[in-house]
Amino acid sequence: MSCIFCKIISGELPSHKVYEDENVLAFLDISPVNPGHTLVVPKKHFVDLEDADEATLCAVIKAVKRVGLSIKNNLGAAGYNLGMNNGAVAGQVVPHLHFHLMPRQAGDGLKLWPQQAYGPGEAEEILQKIKIF
Ligand code: AMP
Ligand code: ZN
Repeated sequence: MSCIFCKIISGELPSHKVYEDENVLAFLDISPVNPGHTLVVPKKHFVDLEDADEATLCAVIKAVKRVGLSIKNNLGAAGYNLGMNNGAVAGQVVPHLHFHLMPRQAGDGLKLWPQQAYGPGEAEEILQKIKIF
């Protein structure tokens, strides 16, 4: 077992636990975007969203909501960003499914990702490729 988050879950590595239940652990990110930045992870090892079963995803997102509420109520955070880097190309460094819960304070200066505009017909072309219904 070489996964760093599995080692945290098993207790082999230390962590600052924020929340724990049968299926989910939440702990402070060691390099926070803002104080209180928390990682919410399933206890069972899944690499990414596609790898995980729906019951696990439900358990994780329910825990995200609980931790998010605690952050809002107890850190004075006006809100939070929820982030999930799905795949190495998206910036996923630890290959154990995890959600980043990042507390936000007014005027904290944190910038979200840059956006761009579609060219003529580009949105329709993309839509034809990815639409599901
Ligand atoms: P990602 O890039 O989405 O895979 O994010 C991995 C996150 O794990 C980063 O934000 C790291 O700061 C965090 N991290 C790595 N090692 C630890 C650790 N031992 N305890 C807490 N957070 C960690
Ligand atoms: Zn793992």
